[in-house]
Amino acid sequence: MKIDLHTHTTYSDGRNTPKELIDLAKKNHYDIFAITDHDSISGYLKVNDYAENIGITLIPGAEISTLYNNNDIHILAYFFDIKNQEFLDMLSFIQDSRKNRAKKIIDKLNELGKNITFEEVVELSGKTDLIGRPHIARALVNKGYCNNIQEAFYKYIGNDCPAYYPKLSLNPIEVIDIIKKAGGISVVAHPFQLEDEFVLLELIEMGVQGIEVFYRLHTNEQIKFYGDIADKYNLVKTGGSDYHGDPKGRIVFGDYSAPDSVYENLLKEKEKIDGTNKS
Ligand code: AMP
Ligand code: ZN
Ligand code: FE
Ligand code: FE
Repeated sequence: MKIDLHTHTTYSDGRNTPKELIDLAKKNHYDIFAITDHDSISGYLKVNDYAENIGITLIPGAEISTLYNNNDIHILAYFFDIKNQEFLDMLSFIQDSRKNRAKKIIDKLNELGKNITFEEVVELSGKTDLIGRPHIARALVNKGYCNNIQEAFYKYIGNDCPAYYPKLSLNPIEVIDIIKKAGGISVVAHPFQLEDEFVLLELIEMGVQGIEVFYRLHTNEQIKFYGDIADKYNLVKTGGSDYHGDPKGRIVFGDYSAPDSVYENLLKEKEKIDGTNKS
């Protein structure tokens, strides 16, 4: 099987529309796929039926932003009930707080003489659910204030930079709990980005159910390291490419696949959850 459980569309900060991404997945022979937009499931909802019709199993997914000790921690959610009100309210809350935060960042940029407007950034975000710093970075590049996205982060909007303003994010423990109550599986995304392994142990303590062991950028050593932790604590191992699209065609889509066991174990975990919720 060919599996990718971590991708982004224009409904967050990806470059491909959901339809384009599913067509790309089909062309590249994926069997099991997940769209995991930041703090939004609108992209998933757009192509849920379409994917099924062309023979791709599309798992409900999202990548939820959380904040812990001032560090961004991304929690992937899979197989949640897409109608669960508490889960949907959580997404709306994060989307609203991201809008307010974008306005604060833009105010700071204006004070620094970088004249971009909230409306321009909304336009660049495709007028969808989610406004992220990558959209603000694109506005800075378009206006000629920066040569590229990296420079925008490095000079202005990266953590601790002059125009940085934090998101009003939820604590991972709240997010893990909401995902669980929605019948979903919570997974620590790209664990190599965590400050250290002790943070990972704290997330396990909070009840996270999986680790993204087979992340595209993980080395074999990291796969072994995080895989051993997952085994030790009986957690699900997932994997994905974190594909965001690439305007210059440098990033190849389709050369990544997680092992078959990832999907099998995720299904087993979901059956376990549904069984427990029934009894
Ligand atoms: P936000 O969720 O709005 O705080 O934006 C965070 C996103 O910005 C991350 O998920 C990355 O995709 C992107 N990002 C963060 N730092 C950088 C950087 N130095 N260069 C390019 N993109 C970055
Ligand atoms: Zn992203
Ligand atoms: Fe992430
Ligand atoms: Fe991601």
